[in-house]
Amino acid sequence: MRIEVAKIEQRPIKGDFRIRDREMDSDSTDGFTIKDCRVEYELYRISESELMLKSHYSGSINLVCTTCLEAYDEEVNHSFSLLFTADPAELEGFVPPDDMDSDVQLLTGDVIDLERQVLDTMRLNIPMAHQCRESCRGICPTCGKNLNEGDCDCVVDTVDPRWKDLELFLNKKE
Ligand SMILES: [Zn+2]
Ligand SMILES: [Zn+2]
Repeated sequence: MRIEVAKIEQRPIKGDFRIRDREMDSDSTDGFTIKDCRVEYELYRISESELMLKSHYSGSINLVCTTCLEAYDEEVNHSFSLLFTADPAELEGFVPPDDMDSDVQLLTGDVIDLERQVLDTMRLNIPMAHQCRESCRGICPTCGKNLNEGDCDCVVDTVDPRWKDLELFLNKKE
């Protein structure tokens, strides 16, 4: 979904599109797949050198849990706005409002690639550490079993090493 900059006027261009079965960054651990997302957008001109994009996306994505490394589905539902400006000086003075995910970008080229903007925003909104469930137990560092599926047979040594000597001493006495 690309829109020519020259065609954007004060009266908003509104529309929607879907992104389906799209794999993102599949070669890295923070890769994810967009299963099905609906994107709504509104694009309008503020001035000769400024354009505004307001967008909302919702749907489901599939990503890999950073704790247990299993894939899981997550619902996404997010609104954002993006100010495009041809004036580099404006990039520095930009103060985003608190109530919304807003950013500013330098306007370059003759088209605005809406899909790319949405994909970039989605990527930024996935937390570095994301888990399949709040209480994900992860994988056993010894045998690699997914502990959400049950305990493994590994014996976990929970004795504080500082008590080790005392323990040995007491054992000797017996
Ligand atoms: Zn997990
Ligand atoms: Zn284990």
